Amino acid sequence: MTPGAPDLKPSQTGPLGVYLHIPFCRQRCHYCSFNTGPYRPAAMERFLSALLSEIDLVGEARWAGGVSIGTVFFGGGTPSLLEGDEMEAVLNRLRKRFTLAPAAEVTVECNPESLTRDKAEGCRLAGVNRLSLGVQSLDDDLLARLGRLHSPVEARRAFNEARAAGFDNLSVDLMYGLPGLDLARWESAVGEILAWRPEHLSAYALTLDEGSRWASEGVAGLPDEDTVTAQYWALARLARQTGYEHYEISNYARDGFRSRHNQVYWRAEEYLAFGPGACGFLGDVRYGNVKPVERYCAMLEAGSLPLGTHEVLTPGQREAERRILGLRLTDGVPLPWLKDRRPLIDTWHSLGLLEIAGGRCRLTEAGFLLSDSLFVHLL
Ligand code: SF4
Repeated sequence: MTPGAPDLKPSQTGPLGVYLHIPFCRQRCHYCSFNTGPYRPAAMERFLSALLSEIDLVGEARWAGGVSIGTVFFGGGTPSLLEGDEMEAVLNRLRKRFTLAPAAEVTVECNPESLTRDKAEGCRLAGVNRLSLGVQSLDDDLLARLGRLHSPVEARRAFNEARAAGFDNLSVDLMYGLPGLDLARWESAVGEILAWRPEHLSAYALTLDEGSRWASEGVAGLPDEDTVTAQYWALARLARQTGYEHYEISNYARDGFRSRHNQVYWRAEEYLAFGPGACGFLGDVRYGNVKPVERYCAMLEAGSLPLGTHEVLTPGQREAERRILGLRLTDGVPLPWLKDRRPLIDTWHSLGLLEIAGGRCRLTEAGFLLSDSLFVHLL
């Protein structure tokens, strides 16, 4: 551990989550603000070697041998640029240093153009049991405008090939509030995706985040707020009609297929993070690795952990986080967690934004829609 670095150590006894950041893409989408750079085979090779070293270094901690891992998430970037044997090498290194629970959920984010039948089979043989497919839109023009590399035809092909390769736990990512997207086209896309019967669906409204091309250059044709709101409600209605649970603000699942990994975040549980810019949470410390891939690799090649930032949360901060994260889920939080906000809770309840039942408070779908502005009051 370097001087000034926090004493990273889990405090929970149950299994931890693991997030692995794969920081390469073939092309940068115009709305993207993630920590990702151009894919080059040599850069991927160097990065993978650094990633394995990072797992080894963290795995040398005295507590590591006793840690069980309940979920693994390969995120990015474009993790589906990895070959099956590369994913297997990473999972084997986790197995060597920690205990990977036999029933662990292991997810890989995939872009349709890099998911072939062979790739899907390679993932499954490597021990991956869940794929999350970044479809985003089923409209040729919109996909091109977003800077995506796939067409709707490729998205359908990738989904079917993942099924044919034996995956019985598939998630699809969609976006709404996109430039030029009207309600009718959105309903048609949602209807088709739901007819595919993915086990899980994530749908996010477009945000122009700092670091994206659209945030710096602007983008024409964004729908007005009423249209975006109508798209949210159309999705909620269609998902309900087809048997999906709206279990988190932006996430829907068939019975038994909630994302176990994302629930680690929303339940304020602990997780390890590996890769450039990856953020973890252990004990009362939130930490983040350095973001530039070059610096990340160089630090690990020199035998150092690539820690960039950390923050020790006070009990008050932890409590506020637990409340806000818990209210993202339809499970809500125990009523006593909000006892100091009773007038606020009563107001939200009277406005139909919150329900109270069985000693718990939870946001309604109307509350989910306004959650960003509601959560400000809970800080
Ligand atoms: S949105 Fe996903 S695929 Fe597109 S550049 Fe960002 S990380 Fe890569």
